[in-house]
Amino acid sequence: MSIQQGSAGGVPVLILKEGTAQTKGRDAQKNNITAAKLIAEIVRSSLGPRGMDKMLVDTLGDVTITNDGATILKEIDVQHPAAKMMVEISKATDNEVGDGTTSVVVLAGALIEKAEELINKDVHPTVIVDGYRKAATKAIEVLNGIAQKIAGNEKQELIKIAKTAMQTKLVSKESDELAQIVVDAALAVSEKTDSGFRLDIDDVKVEKKAGGSLRDTKLVKGIVLDKEVVHGGMPKRIEKAKIALINSALEIEKTEFDAKININSPDQMKMFLEEENRMLKSMVDKIVECGANVVVCQKGIDDIAQHYLAKASILTVRRVKESDMTKMARATTARVVNSLEDLTPKDLGSADLVEERKVETDKWVFVEGAKHPKSVTILIRGGSQRIVDEAERSVHDALMVSKDVLEKPAIVAGGGAPEAYTASKLREWTNTLSGREQIAAEKFAEALEVIPLSLAENAGMDPIDTLTELRSKQSKGSKWTGVDVRNAKVGDISKLDIVEPLAVKEQVIKSATEVASMLLRIDDVIASSKSAGGGPPGPPGGGMGGMGGMGGMGGMGGMDM
Ligand code: ADP
Ligand code: MG
Repeated sequence: MSIQQGSAGGVPVLILKEGTAQTKGRDAQKNNITAAKLIAEIVRSSLGPRGMDKMLVDTLGDVTITNDGATILKEIDVQHPAAKMMVEISKATDNEVGDGTTSVVVLAGALIEKAEELINKDVHPTVIVDGYRKAATKAIEVLNGIAQKIAGNEKQELIKIAKTAMQTKLVSKESDELAQIVVDAALAVSEKTDSGFRLDIDDVKVEKKAGGSLRDTKLVKGIVLDKEVVHGGMPKRIEKAKIALINSALEIEKTEFDAKININSPDQMKMFLEEENRMLKSMVDKIVECGANVVVCQKGIDDIAQHYLAKASILTVRRVKESDMTKMARATTARVVNSLEDLTPKDLGSADLVEERKVETDKWVFVEGAKHPKSVTILIRGGSQRIVDEAERSVHDALMVSKDVLEKPAIVAGGGAPEAYTASKLREWTNTLSGREQIAAEKFAEALEVIPLSLAENAGMDPIDTLTELRSKQSKGSKWTGVDVRNAKVGDISKLDIVEPLAVKEQVIKSATEVASMLLRIDDVIASSKSAGGGPPGPPGGGMGGMGGMGGMGGMGGMDM
């Protein structure tokens, strides 16, 4: 690939740095399309309850087993910039709505694939993008038209939604119990607002510990700190706790530089130690004075201070994560103090019970019956680290869909039914568009069908038969016809309690259209070479800006997986 050159009066003008690679026009487009399609292909087989899991091995040999789109793409090291964009939308969807992370990539891949067909027929990308955008807006309108409104905090509906999100995961067998726990957690921390409900996902703390079985997973109405009581002589259980949250160390501050202290006699030594002792004791006295019987400290605690705290029967936990300090502050309405001098009785929080309990081989501290009940912990248990890890991801998805519906109480059935319905409505609507845009919008409708189609394929069903049956039943007006994956047939999904938030479906369409449009509009890829020029070399596989891995631009060559 050559350096971009111009020429002014016979003198060549160098525009780009030496070593820069540039691909233009069709080539650039083809490259991006290939990369995006490949990414979609990777996650496609993991869509739905019959989707396969992926085993991902990182450079250190650590194994992750998952079928969560966002996780798969996070773990594989993608180099091609177009592939990176696909990974980005999966992440963005995860942040926005928490579910649909596989669907969004699969749909984007299909949109791009259909666009490729049109580009090969000399339809200009701009026309395709316009058609797609109009179709996306219309699709969302159609979805809103069929979505069912519910009262946001209907527990039974929420359980169905949480269950659907977990059906597709490793934990599907336990999804009944887990969905119950997740919804209880979500309802416990949700707040009623003027316009509905609001839920801050941070109010639900998720802790996991391998051992036991998934069925031992439980909801703690309070906070669990994965730390033990620091000193054997301290009480392990305090009722009516008065809790001090301290984020400085209970130690004598060491001087910045090496101070030399001259001690010439045993008496001086004794005095010195006594002075230290006195200072530590006065720290503890201060805590006792304020009336605290529980101390949660973000930093370390000197042995001597521990001794005095134990003598004063104060249950103490040290080296607690900052995020847990914040959660403790919210839950117990305590104020985190930066220095002991600031501590006053007003700063203390309260809880009915603080107790150290055994969790497998560890001892953890449970804070229950806190003043502010809007703080709960889901304590995930499971046979192995891999299972609790995947369970944590599934619980996250389930929590997020509960949040989605609490905040925007509208649902649709799943199984590809809404996509199939929208596709059929879009086909009727495309007649109102002008020639080439119409073709693009029709392709958009076809692309939407990739969702039911992939679900069917992953369940071992015949794709052509499925699509034919789906289209014919849809056109006869049974709008909730989709792919009943468990029974491997086309059927009415609304009868199966497979329900999803409208918010997820909307987000999937919006994000997939966005990334497809973005990629299609690119007709020039300019990549600076890794080692060119005097600048510091970027990190391997660096961010989009660096476009690190563009060296081998021949399709797969640019992807390092
Ligand atoms: P995503 O990461 O996109 O959420 P999933 O692997 O979770 O991907 O699959 C979600 C899709 O699976 C949705 O379209 C949903 O409707 C569908 N689905 C979930 N459970 C069932 C089921 N029992 N029968 C049919 N489709 C289902
Ligand atoms: Mg899902």
